[in-house]
Amino acid sequence: MADSGRLILRGGVVLTMNGRDEVLSPGTVVIEDGRIVSCRADAPPAAAGDTVVDCRDHLLMPGLINTHTHTGFALFRGLGEQRSGAEWAASAYAPPYMDAAVPDDYYWGTLLGGLELLTNGVTCTADRFSHMAVIAEAFDRLGMRAVLCHTLRDITMPLEWDRAMALIDRWGADPESRIHCGIGPHAPDTCSDDLLRRVRRAAQETGARIYIHCSQAPAELAALRTRGHAGGVRCLAATGVLGPDCIAAHCIYIDEEEIRLLAGSGTWVSHCPVSAARIEGRLAPIPALLRAGARVVLGNDWAVTNNGLDLFDEMKCAGVLNKVASGDPAVLPSSALLRMVTIDAARSLGIEQQAGSLEPGKRADVIALDMRSPHLMPWHDIPATLVYSAKGLDVRHVWVDGRWLIRDRRPLDLEVDEVYANVDRIWTRLRGTPAGDRRERDR
Ligand SMILES: [Zn+2]
Repeated sequence: MADSGRLILRGGVVLTMNGRDEVLSPGTVVIEDGRIVSCRADAPPAAAGDTVVDCRDHLLMPGLINTHTHTGFALFRGLGEQRSGAEWAASAYAPPYMDAAVPDDYYWGTLLGGLELLTNGVTCTADRFSHMAVIAEAFDRLGMRAVLCHTLRDITMPLEWDRAMALIDRWGADPESRIHCGIGPHAPDTCSDDLLRRVRRAAQETGARIYIHCSQAPAELAALRTRGHAGGVRCLAATGVLGPDCIAAHCIYIDEEEIRLLAGSGTWVSHCPVSAARIEGRLAPIPALLRAGARVVLGNDWAVTNNGLDLFDEMKCAGVLNKVASGDPAVLPSSALLRMVTIDAARSLGIEQQAGSLEPGKRADVIALDMRSPHLMPWHDIPATLVYSAKGLDVRHVWVDGRWLIRDRRPLDLEVDEVYANVDRIWTRLRGTPAGDRRERDR
């Protein structure tokens, strides 16, 4: 986009996801200095220096927001097949060959997974792991929005605490920054009560939000019982971690009291149904959480057990799996699923002033889907078509901060061949090492 002029996305169907669920058909999105200036039914005349993109036959909508990922694990896609939840827990959630991976490998893994996210229309992700200093550089290079946390666990203290604080020093916690940080305690069973209380204090001091795994496996609950906690959510309540600035991923093994604790505290639940199905064979009680007033958003988790990073897929699976699990085909209507990857996802990450809907003043994170495909037509119900018919592959163009990152499904500023060559190089090396699982958690 020319710095001097406006970017005008003209003539598409504009799904705003604003408070009135406004749809403009046709509509135009006008962007200036990386922000949306207006969404309007008429097309303004182009002035000298403006860039006009013909978006007829395209659906323009806010870029999707992923609330829980480990993007760099795209490197290990397909290496977690046919393991039970107990086997995953016993191997500390480490896929084969992870022992031999070095931080630079995750840089390239993040570029690979990040390209997958972007080409599938995901413009922002909440990501967490170790080695976040190099992973942050990869997200910066991708041009996408990201909230990043360096994982904290008892066994890596105090080293990892210093690294987590260094990450916040480098990138800040300001939601206006395209890349910024949260605080990422790993899980209640791998973090002592003291560490969890320290995380809450640091969140208050820095303004960073708290991202944690919670209640994802029976082994976690067994470990917590030895510390006197009758559940992961209860542990987070007792240590002051719960709150509207806390995003708890999974929450699979929770009871009625913990549902009330999550709802009452305004804590966000990041529901990752595909990963939950493929690791635990069980879902979080999402309909019960929603009935209690809890706030639920969606995430892909990682490509090891997903095995992709596509939020269109995740929406469909969330809808289908929860209808089956609850025996009620009316739960999770399409419009609610769509909010879980747009405006509600933005609220969960604290970036609702910047992203999640197409509204004047917000950053211009916009995706354009090709509407003229046999598996999408006719468009009787936009949310239903997006949730149950559309794929990430339908996304043709992607802008973040008004910068055109993906055009006709190809990245404009990144050489995909360079990424693929490095993935090949990494696997030539890793395949020469033992495949064995490690016994120490590093996720
Ligand atoms: Zn996770």
